[in-house]
Amino acid sequence: MPNGKFIYLQTFGCQMNVHDSEKMLSILTKHDYRPTDDIHRADIILLNTCSVRAKPEHKVYSALGRFKKFKEKNHHLIIGVGGCVAQQEGERLLDRIGHLDLVFGTHNLHRLPDLIDDIQASRRPMCAVEFYDEVRSLEIFPAPSDGEKVKSYVTIMQGCDNFCSFCIVPYVRGREKSRPSENILGEIKALSKRGVKEVTLLGQNVNSYGKDLSGGFTFPQLLAHSNEIEGIWRIRFTTSHPKDISKELIMAFGKLEKVCKHIHLPFQSGSDRVLERMGRGYTRKQYMEKTEQLREVCPGIGITADVMVGFPGEDERDFHETLDLIQRVQFDNLFSFKYSPRNGTRAARYPDQIDESTKSHRLEVLQKLQKQITFKRNQGLEERYEEILVEGMSKAAKEELTGRTSSNKVVNFKGSTDLIGQLLKVKIEKGYMNSLRGKIV
Ligand code: SF4
Repeated sequence: MPNGKFIYLQTFGCQMNVHDSEKMLSILTKHDYRPTDDIHRADIILLNTCSVRAKPEHKVYSALGRFKKFKEKNHHLIIGVGGCVAQQEGERLLDRIGHLDLVFGTHNLHRLPDLIDDIQASRRPMCAVEFYDEVRSLEIFPAPSDGEKVKSYVTIMQGCDNFCSFCIVPYVRGREKSRPSENILGEIKALSKRGVKEVTLLGQNVNSYGKDLSGGFTFPQLLAHSNEIEGIWRIRFTTSHPKDISKELIMAFGKLEKVCKHIHLPFQSGSDRVLERMGRGYTRKQYMEKTEQLREVCPGIGITADVMVGFPGEDERDFHETLDLIQRVQFDNLFSFKYSPRNGTRAARYPDQIDESTKSHRLEVLQKLQKQITFKRNQGLEERYEEILVEGMSKAAKEELTGRTSSNKVVNFKGSTDLIGQLLKVKIEKGYMNSLRGKIV
């Protein structure tokens, strides 16, 4: 019998966090808690947080501020913070936010039901931010959710060993931990039986998958085995590190028919001087060579990336080298950000921080350039035929469906709901800034 307790869960940040939230709900529903979208009904409010940049971190504190009034009305309400901010701040969060009951780190999702029980029994706040050699939360398999049958995430690893000078991830997610390949493949097979058609393999640096396992698969080998699983039509993965992309992985795009023609390959800066200070381990030339090889092996591949402006010491010349790289590579899309110092990282201690107005100006110039490129690339697909996986109803227009090309472009088109979950051929009629309009052939 359900215990009648409702959970309101809000997620900030990347796909990894979205998937972790699915896992949290999965273990809590097994303990008879029920999810709700109505915060007023909640007995437990959980925030799954991101600290990779200053903005999402600030959002966490303002959300916690807003939740105070709920606690004042209901003293039995439990408010908890998980994810990267929780891992980073630990007990300090409990000291700072008087109405907070629970702080749980990135290796502690599996302990959630017990932690909540302990708080209910003792009425005392709890903090669980230990790192473990064996990350049990990696093996939580989210339960099927209504209307979520077409695509699913599969975590293949967690953490990062790279310690880029700007990045908080190795401190809040820990060192690289790969899941055994048999568990991953077992999960993909189970998803296929549930009707899932597309899986996205997740990790902070998927290209170094398996390096911490003795005698295990490499990432390309894992892709090859996933490619054999019946019922799975498409395989995506994120995130890739340019320095770890092997020839074998590039060739996989040409060889493995289920691997989608899309790669997200963050370059962060087009300046060798800045890349060196970031500790990225590649040069602009090497980055561009990898993108050229990818396009040779897989013509039409969609290439997206992360880039930041205003890294400490970035001068006008460095910035123009970034713009130049963007022009040369012609990305399908970019996720662009202003650098924000993260406590505990090397770059936060660099003395030559860039002022906010320069960062804002550079971001504006960069985004304007990328918008032109994205628009041009989307228009370049007009009159072409593309295969799309139909994902569901379009958010943009009523009575329309939405799907994605293999290259990860959103296509909206008219069609009936029984097409959801099918692979369809569409003719692209119009390319817009953020999507394409198609017609079923
Ligand atoms: S590789 Fe990615 S996750 Fe790892 S430290 Fe660098 S930016 Fe962060």
